[in-house]
Amino acid sequence: MMIVMKEGATEDEVARVVERVEEIGCSAHVSKGEILTLIGAIGNREKVADLGLEGAPGVDHLVPIAKPYKLASREFRKGEDSVLEIDGREVGGTKFALIAGPCTVENRDQMLASAEAVATAGATMLRGGAYKPRTSPYSFQGLGREGLRLLAESKQQTGLPIVTELLDLRDLDDVLGVADVIQIGARNMQNYSLLSEVGKSGRPVLLKRGLSATVEELLMASEYILKEGNEDVMLCERGIRTYETAYRFTLDLMAVPALKEQTHLPVIVDPSHAPGRRDWVESMSLAAVAAGADGIIIEVHNEPEKAICDAAQQVPTSEFGELTAKIKAIAGIVGKTISRG
Ligand code: PEP
Ligand code: MN
Repeated sequence: MMIVMKEGATEDEVARVVERVEEIGCSAHVSKGEILTLIGAIGNREKVADLGLEGAPGVDHLVPIAKPYKLASREFRKGEDSVLEIDGREVGGTKFALIAGPCTVENRDQMLASAEAVATAGATMLRGGAYKPRTSPYSFQGLGREGLRLLAESKQQTGLPIVTELLDLRDLDDVLGVADVIQIGARNMQNYSLLSEVGKSGRPVLLKRGLSATVEELLMASEYILKEGNEDVMLCERGIRTYETAYRFTLDLMAVPALKEQTHLPVIVDPSHAPGRRDWVESMSLAAVAAGADGIIIEVHNEPEKAICDAAQQVPTSEFGELTAKIKAIAGIVGKTISRG
């Protein structure tokens, strides 16, 4: 149930509603907007209805949310898009996030050269994994702390906020030391204890769709982060497993309008991991923008042929400027601008 407070409701009135919701064993999530305060009451809907909050001091009206996810639902924000602010850059609404960088941090020269090129092209944020979820335990697993250090140096050099993956809770503090956005990879979308902890950390999160997760399961996973009071969540379509074998994963671009209909959270598309080959990345990027995505996260490398992982799909930095120009053009057509600091 969502409780919409009156314009000008006092702190005491909000606190009293929260108290009454908690008294019946439900949890209350207060979301203060510029004008309105909303209280999401999570738990037994009938019990909340029985509280008779309609008419209580400061309460305007109640909106029942029938969906299994509440805080992520579009109704929770009265139909409005959430606009996240990440290190001075907005994401959502008309602000499009162009996130780019290598699959993984390999060494100082590679990371700084890639970061510099991505910044010059006008990207919003820089990506790069220091902890890598690899299919084979014998493959390169990432540089770990040294990778984080190189990301921090890249940020210092370019000013770009950093998006980097957290694989394991034991690395949370180290990752928090550099990440402006914590990426939760496809393989961890249903690692619920990890989701709750990143929720508690309060740091913005990019939550990738699991390899075989439905749109609703992705939304439910986001709820684990939101319920900890962390409102800064972006959802990411990155391709799912289907019967098709002609490419690595099926990039489900219809997830974009499907998600935008159901949630206020920004929706990002990863056009790199599904095709797994760079010559298809441009068309999938442009299609994602046209489909209404709020951003894309794309793999870019200064020397892709030498890349340790995902070599075949990374776009060379020498071609990224041209790709960015096309992305900007399509973004303009759908009424968005690339977000910059
Ligand atoms: C990545 O972005 O580097 C990555 C590993 O993605 P995913 O979790 O979608 O496979
Ligand atoms: Mn990759």
